[in-house]
Amino acid sequence: MAIAKNKNEIYKILKSYMEIEGMSRYEDDVVEALKKNTEKSGFKYSRDGMGSLIMNKKGDPKGPKIQIAAHMDEVGFLVREVTPKGMILLSMVGGVWPATVIGTEGILMSSKGKRYSGVFGHTSIHIMTDSQFKNAPLLKELYLDIGLKSLKEAEKLGIEPGDRVQMSGQSMQLKANPDFVAGKSMDNRAGITVIDQLVQRLKGKKNPNDLYVVGTVQEEVGTRGARTSVSAIEPDVAIAIDTCASHDTPNAIKGIQKLGNGIAIRIKDGGTMMDPKLVDYIYKLAKKKKIPVYKFVAQGGGTDAANLQFGKGGVPTIALSIPQRYLHSPIGMASLTDIKAAIDLLEEFVLNFGSKEMKSISYK
Ligand SMILES: [Zn+2]
Repeated sequence: MAIAKNKNEIYKILKSYMEIEGMSRYEDDVVEALKKNTEKSGFKYSRDGMGSLIMNKKGDPKGPKIQIAAHMDEVGFLVREVTPKGMILLSMVGGVWPATVIGTEGILMSSKGKRYSGVFGHTSIHIMTDSQFKNAPLLKELYLDIGLKSLKEAEKLGIEPGDRVQMSGQSMQLKANPDFVAGKSMDNRAGITVIDQLVQRLKGKKNPNDLYVVGTVQEEVGTRGARTSVSAIEPDVAIAIDTCASHDTPNAIKGIQKLGNGIAIRIKDGGTMMDPKLVDYIYKLAKKKKIPVYKFVAQGGGTDAANLQFGKGGVPTIALSIPQRYLHSPIGMASLTDIKAAIDLLEEFVLNFGSKEMKSISYK
């Protein structure tokens, strides 16, 4: 797909990425889509040894090396064990609160390449115990019911421990507010949409730096693709682009991130204290270009920045966050205003950050 001319077109691209199944360690379909959509942009493609996609544009090979990373993977489950009665017990890939998937469709992808739809099961309210009603379900209680009657039936179909179970969730642009959109794996196909559009917008433009735009693997299981790709690239500065929790729902703890307010610059989380000079540079750049932006301190979660900062000798690193409601559940919601702000800001950064700017933020 081409460069989006408006927010509705950004949604179409986002939808196409959200509908790809790409659990951690199984990101290849996202890679193929990214390559296909950006193939005419003049970037050179390579993969690192764990599968992250590296897209390089040597605008000025003497300029600073920039790495911009968005993770391609999404959370999900693996088959842990099939019970004698044919129910499928699960192991989590990334963090999922089991209550969010119960009652929705799960899709088992067998090692033989077949797909089996089922339901993340639960006990019907009419027959549950008092304690089941009052307490949140635990992962050990979660199962997928694809209609089997026995372990033997599962074996006959070739279902094995380690087979994937993907969440499913409908994509939508909300009629009551078309700026808000929702779908499966908004975390982080919103970020993938941003790097897709960034790469396409740079076609024919001169960047005063050596730019590496990376779709990373395995962020949800510990930012592992950030760790390997940063060691392959050895950048001078790094930016992670990802979603973050939005606090604008009735029962959430207090916090300032909300949908539609622009791109949020993360200052601190459990794994990273962002580089103050780089934060200052990009914040001022956003203000100058009239791109909606604000700073926040995260009260949970982390990003690829946690490992990007450990690139060779230490790397000034920041993270840009797209607020999202209902993270790590079948349907997440975000704002097209925020996604567009991220694209606009990263494009401005790439077109303006050269040797002089690097010197102004460098400790060396
Ligand atoms: Zn994420």
